[in-house]
Parts: sequence; C-alpha cells; structure tokens
Amino acid sequence: MPRISAALPSVPLVLFVLIGLVPAGAEAQQTVSDPTPPATTGWMEDSPFRPLELPAANRLRTGSGAPGPDYWQQKVDYRMTASVDTAGSLLTGTSTITYHNRSPELLPYLWLKLDANLCDPAGTAAKLNQPPLMFGDAVFDFSCAGGAGMTVSRVESRGRALRTTDAGTRMRVELPEPLRPGQTIEIETAWSWPMPDYGYGRMGRDGTLYQVAQWYPRVAVFDDLSGWNIDPFLGAGEFYQEFGDFDVELTVPAGYVVTATGSLVNDREVLTAEQRERLGRADSSEEAVAVITREEALAARERPVDGTKTWKFSAKDVRDFAFAMAPDFRWDASDWNGIRIQTFYRPEAVSWEEANRMSWVSIKHFSERLAMYPWPHATTVEGPNEGMEYPMLTFVPGYADREALYWVLTHEFGHEWYPMLVGSNERLHPWMDEGFNTFINIGSVEEYFAGGDYGEWISKQPLEEWAAHAVSGKEQPMALPPTQQHDLYWAAYFKPALMMHLLRTEVLGPEVFDRALAEYTEAWSFKHPGPADFFRAMEDAAGARLDWFWRGWIETAARLDHSIETVWPGDPENPPWVHIRSRGDMIMPVELHFEFVDGSRETARLPVEMWNLGPDFVYRLPGGKQLETARLDPREVYPDDDRTNDAWPSGP
Ligand SMILES: [Zn+2]
Repeated sequence: MPRISAALPSVPLVLFVLIGLVPAGAEAQQTVSDPTPPATTGWMEDSPFRPLELPAANRLRTGSGAPGPDYWQQKVDYRMTASVDTAGSLLTGTSTITYHNRSPELLPYLWLKLDANLCDPAGTAAKLNQPPLMFGDAVFDFSCAGGAGMTVSRVESRGRALRTTDAGTRMRVELPEPLRPGQTIEIETAWSWPMPDYGYGRMGRDGTLYQVAQWYPRVAVFDDLSGWNIDPFLGAGEFYQEFGDFDVELTVPAGYVVTATGSLVNDREVLTAEQRERLGRADSSEEAVAVITREEALAARERPVDGTKTWKFSAKDVRDFAFAMAPDFRWDASDWNGIRIQTFYRPEAVSWEEANRMSWVSIKHFSERLAMYPWPHATTVEGPNEGMEYPMLTFVPGYADREALYWVLTHEFGHEWYPMLVGSNERLHPWMDEGFNTFINIGSVEEYFAGGDYGEWISKQPLEEWAAHAVSGKEQPMALPPTQQHDLYWAAYFKPALMMHLLRTEVLGPEVFDRALAEYTEAWSFKHPGPADFFRAMEDAAGARLDWFWRGWIETAARLDHSIETVWPGDPENPPWVHIRSRGDMIMPVELHFEFVDGSRETARLPVEMWNLGPDFVYRLPGGKQLETARLDPREVYPDDDRTNDAWPSGP
C-alpha cells in the first residue's frame, strides 16, 4: 500500500479535510500580503532521507557497492549432446555438468531447474490456470498451449544413480557425499522433451523454424544472498543463472542451419566452402555480407536433405545456452570491433534486410557506453517469439515496421549487458535487467533514429506510460517480485526506465550518472549483484546519498506532488519569495521558472537538499524585482500527480 503521510504532518487536520472538499489546488498559489515567509515544520521520524535498511556490508559485498575480497560465485560447466527429431519436435539430450563449489559451504545436495516443466499439465502453473498477463497493449501468455514437461531419465555421478526429488520446475539432487568448498563434481543427466509450439513466451516453433531455450536441466544459482535460488518458474520472472563454459553438439536434420550461443567449432563439417569464404569476408566488413542469400534460402526450402548433421558450439563465461534452427534461413553477417554480428531470418521477413545494420549499431552503442561486448558473436534470429534474450543470441519477431523492429531488436541485445553480463536475479528483481535495459534502449533508439520523429519522442515514452499505468492507490512497489506484479509492463520496464532517466537528467546529471552506471556494470560483469550493491555502487561513484531516491522509486509506490503554496511577489523593501511544498511522499529536485513584472525571466534548479528540513521550502529571490508568474517543472519532465497546483497565479 502506498504511504500517504510523509509530506503531511505539518498540515492541520482541518486544512487536510478542506483540501478534500474543494477543487484540487484551490488552497495553494495564494498571493500573501505579509512579506514574512511562513514558518515551516520539519520531518519527524519519517524523513525521506533516513537510511534504507540494507543488508550490512561485509567482505563479500562492500559498502562501496563492489564485490569484496571474499566474494565468491559458483561455476557450472556443461558438456552436452542433443538431437532434435523434427517429426515430433522431440528433443533428447545428455549432459555432463561440472559443478565447482567455490562457496565456503558444504553442499549435501544441489537443485536443478527444469523450467520446461512449466508445460507439465500436472504442474503448478497448469493448476493455477491463469489468463495471459496484459502487457501494455500486448498479451503475455506464459502458458505452454498444450505442451508437455521434460522427462529426466538419468541423474548420476561416476556411474551411480543419485537420489532425486521432483518438485515441478525444480529437482533436488542428493550428492553421493557433501561437496566440500573447493571441490568439483561431475553429474551426468539424460532427458527428453517434446518441445511446445508455444513455450511460455520464451521459445517455440513456427513450421520448420525452431527457437529453442530452457531445453536442458540447469543448475540453480547458489549464492551468498539466499543460498539456493529455487523460486519456481511460473511464467513471469526470468532466469537467474550461474556463469560457466559450454560445449554442445546438436544433431539435427541435415538440411537445417543452426545458430547458437557460442562459436561454431566444426564449420568445415557443416558449412560449404562458399559460406565459409563469405563469413571470412564478413569478419572484416562493417557492411552486411550475405552468407546465405535469399535465393539460396528459397532453394533450400524446396530441396529436402536426408540424414542428420551435427553442429558443435563452444562458449566461455556465459550463463545459458540457446539455439535456433531452420532449413531456410537467410544469414547476414558483419563485423564491429572483432565481434561477428549475425542475423538469421526467413525470406518472407523482408524488413530484416536492415536488421544486421540495426544489430551493428546496437552492439556498438551499448559497448561504447556500458562495457565492451565480451563474446565473439552477437546474433539475432527472426521467428515466432515476441522477443527473448540469451547469451550471444536473441529472438525477435519479423515486424514489418522499422520502429517496432528496432525497439525489440535493440531491447533484446541490451539484455546482453543486463542480465547476460551483469548477472542479477531476474526471478526477483526484474527492474535490474528489464528496467535498466528499457532505459538504455532509449539512447539506442535516439542514435538510430536521430533527427526523426521516433528518435525525438522516445525519451518521453516513460512519462507517457506513467500517465497511463501509474494509477494512484493501485501502483505496486517495483521491489515486489514479478509473480506478484499486476502491471509488470510498468513496474519492470517503464517505471525503472523513467527512474533511471530522471536520475540521469535531473538528479545526478548525465556525466556523473553515465560514469557511475558504467562503473557498476564493469564491477559486476560476470557476477551477481543484488539491489543493495547497485544502490551503493551508484552512490559511491556519483558522490550522492540516494536512500530517498531508491525508497520513493523502488521500495514504495510513492507519489510525487510538488506545489506552489503561497507567493510574496515582492515590493521595494521586501524581496519576493515562493513557498513550495512536497505534498506527496516522493521527493525530487525542483525546477522553477519565473517571469517578472519588468519582463525578465529566470529559471532556478533546486537540488533535492531543499527538502532536508521538511516538506516545505521557501525559495527567496533577490530584491529589486517584482514577480509576475512562477511555474514548477516548466519542462514537464516529472510524474507530478497534480499539475493544477504547479503555477502561480493558479491556472493550467
Ligand atoms: Zn526484456
């Protein structure tokens, strides 16, 4: 529930009641006849500046928001073989999981995540049988549309079967003996999964095109913040994953082309000499080179090939592995800074002829601002999925509209930084990946569509979404987990984007903010930051205490309502002043625009310290001039709940 008391303790009850009875703002914007500024009262125990209750800093996570000298993180490597039988969309696989216990704890068991079991007709999600989540204008269907779960037929170590306990999308595996700190264990698994055509908005199939993810038993994250992270997969909230290395062999019908997380290591076996020559050219070309042309893709569709082919991929320091395959892919490739930029799409998706350029600009844009893209390729695949991200590989629909295509394409690539590189916990804190990502997407759109309407408008979108979504009394704190959010579109995407945008432009300034965000990104690359680490990292790098900011934006659903209360316009003896109040429970810096009787104008930008003493502030202007008008938030950048009390004399 939103707090409503913070800004109101100084208001007598009778006035509080009156405010409710008369038109909004009618008590404010009065011109006073007494030049003495009003006495103001202070915060009591509810000061918005009081420190947040954060986990204590320690040698793992320091007070400066950096990984400490004792920071540890588990490492999980996978060697896998899998085959896809396209006749029944059946995936069968085996894996050797190498689990490195780098924690200081003894581990008697570990947890596997079987996200595919969201599709199990007997699972929690099926029992709850919830309708799709409305997601802005879009419908987010987390169901499996008649899919089935994953059958794990083997879990063993050194030839000995391990005892397992099935818990829906999770499986507890008893180790032969407790795994000591510093020890490593190899676990063998085998499984099969009839892949659904529609996989809870994260993967799926369209005819012969497959986008495959969450397809193998994955070890859950064990960390110092919550031990085993075993929150079930219910559809909302994505995938918190350990980093590790992957060697994967995928056996598919011989006519298929496969792309995946990781580098293709047996290109001589699966590509033609001509394709390899074209890839070689692409590796020194900023312009897209067609590795498979439109004509070749169309011809391949008409020419069934018997047998199978095995594609081998290898990836280092990634938190997941996904792949896509189709017999009729077009394949474009280019290079930016040694990174192979690849786009795979079907001949019908003509808008995708521009997608390689879009990808190139996106990877460059984010690399130059956050941290260098760390993997050998960045690949996006057109297909049925509404948009989904995996390391080095993203899925994006075949939109005809350039703006829609760029927005989703750059969004999914933005996820390569949050959370593929900065591995925060998506199951609990989607604002740290979806939100940061939506924020950085704004700059990417501004660059790609510079000078055009879309590029000019995009930074205004979060505030427009606020007007539509942030309904007072219904808005939930963005700190709540995604499974408890009624409006994930707002709480996980656009509210955090608005938060980051205002932190950048109005609170810290672009230069300070950009450096702080890049330093946070660098410090937590390939690691697992929590919210407190982000708060501390930003505060330290920016040189600002921001408890008030995180409280208002993340921990509560606070409302912002700055108002002009009373104004002394000034006379020859007494300089003018303006009494401003924070009537909501969110505070922000204030911008005031003044016009004077002599025709001159002035703008004042007041830092948030104006609210140090209480919810009232008297801004004192120099003498010798008489005020004619005053206006709060003249650029209309803030989500101010009541604009009728923002101007003096009153009026819209
Ligand atoms: Zn996203």
